[in-house]
Amino acid sequence: MSASLAQTDRVAADELLVTEPGRVALPPGEPHDDALPVWNDWVRHSPDHVVAAWLSRFEQLLSTGHIEAAVELFLPDSFWRDILAFTWNLHTAEGQDAIRDMLRTCLGSVKPKAWQANGPSREVEDIIEATFDFETEVGRGTGVLRLKDGRCWTLLTTLVELKGHEEAIRHRRPIGLAADAYRPGRESWGERRKRHAEEIGVTRQPYCLVVGAGLWGLALGARLKQLNVSTLLIDRLERPSDVWRNRYDTLVTNSPSAADHLPYMPYPDNWPAFPSKDQIANWLDCYASIMELDIWCKTDCRRAVFDEARDEWIVDVVRDGQAVTLRPKQLVFATGFFGPPHVPEFPGAANFAGEQIHSASFQTAHAYRGRQCVVIGADVSGHDIAAALWEAGADVTVVQRSPVIIVPRESLLGLFQELFSDTAVDRGMTPEKADLLLASLPFRVLSRQHAKMFAEIKQRDSEFYRKLEESGFQLTDGEDHAGLLPQLYRRGAGYYVDVGASKLIINGSIKLRSRVGIECITEHGVLLSDGTELPADVIIYATGYDRSKIPAWKILPDEVRHAVGKLWGYGSGFRGDPGPWEGELRNVWKPTQQRGLWFGAGGFLHSRFYSRVLALQIKAREVGIPTQVYRIPETHCRD
Ligand SMILES: Cc1cc2nc3c(=O)[nH]c(=O)nc-3n(C[C@H](O)[C@H](O)[C@H](O)COP(=O)(O)OP(=O)(O)OC[C@H]3O[C@@H](n4cnc5c(N)ncnc54)[C@H](O)[C@@H]3O)c2cc1C
Repeated sequence: MSASLAQTDRVAADELLVTEPGRVALPPGEPHDDALPVWNDWVRHSPDHVVAAWLSRFEQLLSTGHIEAAVELFLPDSFWRDILAFTWNLHTAEGQDAIRDMLRTCLGSVKPKAWQANGPSREVEDIIEATFDFETEVGRGTGVLRLKDGRCWTLLTTLVELKGHEEAIRHRRPIGLAADAYRPGRESWGERRKRHAEEIGVTRQPYCLVVGAGLWGLALGARLKQLNVSTLLIDRLERPSDVWRNRYDTLVTNSPSAADHLPYMPYPDNWPAFPSKDQIANWLDCYASIMELDIWCKTDCRRAVFDEARDEWIVDVVRDGQAVTLRPKQLVFATGFFGPPHVPEFPGAANFAGEQIHSASFQTAHAYRGRQCVVIGADVSGHDIAAALWEAGADVTVVQRSPVIIVPRESLLGLFQELFSDTAVDRGMTPEKADLLLASLPFRVLSRQHAKMFAEIKQRDSEFYRKLEESGFQLTDGEDHAGLLPQLYRRGAGYYVDVGASKLIINGSIKLRSRVGIECITEHGVLLSDGTELPADVIIYATGYDRSKIPAWKILPDEVRHAVGKLWGYGSGFRGDPGPWEGELRNVWKPTQQRGLWFGAGGFLHSRFYSRVLALQIKAREVGIPTQVYRIPETHCRD
């Protein structure tokens, strides 16, 4: 971790704390210390000193068990997001009462200490922001503090490593083959690698089984490897990259590459800002190989039940046609959260004379030259496919039912500019710090902040939005007016990052029918609810995926599915994300109601940071570190 504030700063910080008792009222029963230092005169000092003083006081109050006084260091409407360090959970305590409860439950076993700022603080309007390091009994952590009027507005604490089980990277990197003295029969790297790969799952059970070797499985596999957790990944496809390779050939990522690289291996500096799906696929194959991950491809997971008596899973898989039973202690589903393609059941579809295809099976537009194509749905795939069809010389009409969030590509890059961009790197930003800062925003704050940013985008791109609306396109900025990112966390759909298709809609190259439903499919077209019929040779359903049927729910017993409940969404109460409010994503990257069952999900942006969060929890369980989980949420809603 980076260097701390100099010792002189800590001394100066202590000087800020006067010993006048009574400024912080302690409730009856709290340990009383007449000489308890209190906050004073913070406004006269530099942001670095204010931060150092706050951390120093916080440490003192926590280490002496003065919970009530520690709570007083927070504003009434403050947030403390903890990732494992205090709660062994991902938990956001909102307000002083929740913070008090969290501290009363967790503080005794956590024993936090050594809170120190690890770089200069930043002042933005009336907020001072700083990152810091700290330790607990079992690990080392880092965090982000935001102060307003000298009191904490948001606090993030996150565990980054376990003492005695640090990742084998940089100064701890393995010596490699050279560590072995020459001796007859010594294995080469290749021989050892081959032996390990042949043993795992056959003569030696993995401690952790990861189902799904897409980007999430690979990122988690790499993390677990550095923590020396015996891990096997399985995937039903031929190559870990095939999810991406099999997508339509004009696809480029809609998140920028500066934000997207997997752990340990940044993309090369000459990579495009938005790589194509085949570049991503090639990268994933290389990643799996370079990270030396043990992967069984062409292996389908069929059934998993938890053996309570042996405290392990019985997992039935079919590996290249052969039935195999695996017995891992920890089971992670990294099978994506999309579920199978969703095709709405329109009357008459069975009698359609042309071709009907879901976007998931759409590969290339070349065959559709000169044909009449109707694309149903106006999210990412709907736009991309409509544009590819137009390029190929097809006659294309998009049918839009619901409003969609559109963000021009340049404006999206602007959203990422401060954290994930070459400019940010030039200013000294690292991916680790950027991930931390992003994670430090509780959902309520994220939503408010993005509402502000999205309002700015709407103003800056007002001409673009006006023309798009004039073309008939139904726009939205999300139910919380916060645009793309919060909606991604709510339902992972309903948006498009414009890389050019919107212009084709505006200039009429791609025809649009919106504010209409689909009455039925006729033999030669699509009958709309306003009575018009769109002639069609081809219907492409860009209608998304069935999230209630993710692969895990077919593999796990029903009672486990019911106990665990919904994945993803933070309880906003908006479409696709029913309440009650959770303030954290449901069931991903954290303990579930089923022991030994985990879900890794999300896009590239999440895989780097949260793969470590998940890996640390698995490692802690492997080595027997006590992991008392604070508040696994009740199962309020089910997929
Ligand atoms: C058109 C499109 C564009 C996208 N663009 C972006 C983007 O730009 N940026 C971004 O971050 N995200 C993007 N996404 C979302 C992205 O695909 C997901 O975020 C990402 O792939 C999720 O990774 P994952 O590892 O969780 O799941 P997946 O990549 O879906 O991988 C899951 C793996 O599990 C395997 N599997 C499933 N069931 C079983 C089973 N029973 N047994 C064995 N293996 C099984 C599958 O074969 C698959 O390989 C896009 C999605 C689509 C559809």
